[in-house]
Amino acid sequence: MSVIIDGGANEDVVHGAGFAHLREHWALASFRRALGDDYVMATAQTLQYQTEFIIFVRSADAVVRDRIDWWQWSTADLAEEVAVIDSEIVAAESDMNGLAVDRELPRRLGVFGPETDWGYGDRESLRGWTVDNLRTAVSQTWGDRPAMAVTTARDLDGWGPNDDLRPFRGQGVTVRPASEGPVTVAGGGGITYCGWHFDYRDRRDLRAVDDLVTLLTLVARDNGAREAQGYEFDFRIGQFGERHVARGSDYLAVGIKCEPGSPVVRTAAVIDQLLESTRAVLRADIGVGDSRLAMGIDRHRLLRQARINQSIVQRLVLVNRAKLLGGEDPVLHSAERDSSELTAYAQYLLTLIDDMSVDVGTAA
Ligand SMILES: [Zn+2]
Repeated sequence: MSVIIDGGANEDVVHGAGFAHLREHWALASFRRALGDDYVMATAQTLQYQTEFIIFVRSADAVVRDRIDWWQWSTADLAEEVAVIDSEIVAAESDMNGLAVDRELPRRLGVFGPETDWGYGDRESLRGWTVDNLRTAVSQTWGDRPAMAVTTARDLDGWGPNDDLRPFRGQGVTVRPASEGPVTVAGGGGITYCGWHFDYRDRRDLRAVDDLVTLLTLVARDNGAREAQGYEFDFRIGQFGERHVARGSDYLAVGIKCEPGSPVVRTAAVIDQLLESTRAVLRADIGVGDSRLAMGIDRHRLLRQARINQSIVQRLVLVNRAKLLGGEDPVLHSAERDSSELTAYAQYLLTLIDDMSVDVGTAA
């Protein structure tokens, strides 16, 4: 089952770095205790605005519905969990590319607002918690019985894709101009990440950012091969690869790795080349009036959706997020487009690429 509780790392701003992570572990212990022998295993993630759990249970009847009684930790329990989190932080911080994309970029882009952290927490301040302080802070944020969105595999019975959603319903995503030019962050292994911040009114529109990644990947691999020679690209969207959790904005990271021996060129110049190639390909496609590229991007999206639809766990999470955030999840929908819609979509992607280029240009 997927369980989502509103409130995540954003509440660390008030209660200290790592509070939400500790609270997540506390909730896991509570679920485990409530489910008893039916509990098999669980994973959890503290995202900015919500805490998400995936719990595997032995029997379909074993569900937590809409409330959970908190497990009362002893001081020894707390110390044990703090030690577990300690090692999780060490592991997370040793992944240089994860650090660059999941912590530094959202910070520098201001994706989640000021003073936000990535949810793992601070090892020093985590040691300051007592059982009583923790209980009080959890009670102030989630209450004694938190409201939960719960979706079980059984809830998915009778679920099917819905094809009646057209792609252009929302407002679209816009690239938020970076005031100080492009945000670049060094990752590990010689990779530098460049980040863009996107705003959206309707979370269904965020799939355009996924489509941008498809587009840039295709261009980097085929059309841009000449310009991109000697470079490897790493495209990532959102913190921990998650989407629809930043509420109104999200970000795209493009990592560039120079192969040993290739000429040292500024990151901005490599990005500029990639964006320029992408623009040229889109323009040529739009000129023909029947965008094969947009069609290809649509097909890639259908493949992506099909993969998600195959995974019951991912479906659970998406359906459950829709419960919390309203409406059905955009990723579970597919839509066919006619040629004029495809061309219009290629135009729209071109607008986004143009806006991304402006950002790079300002700092050049
Ligand atoms: Zn943890």
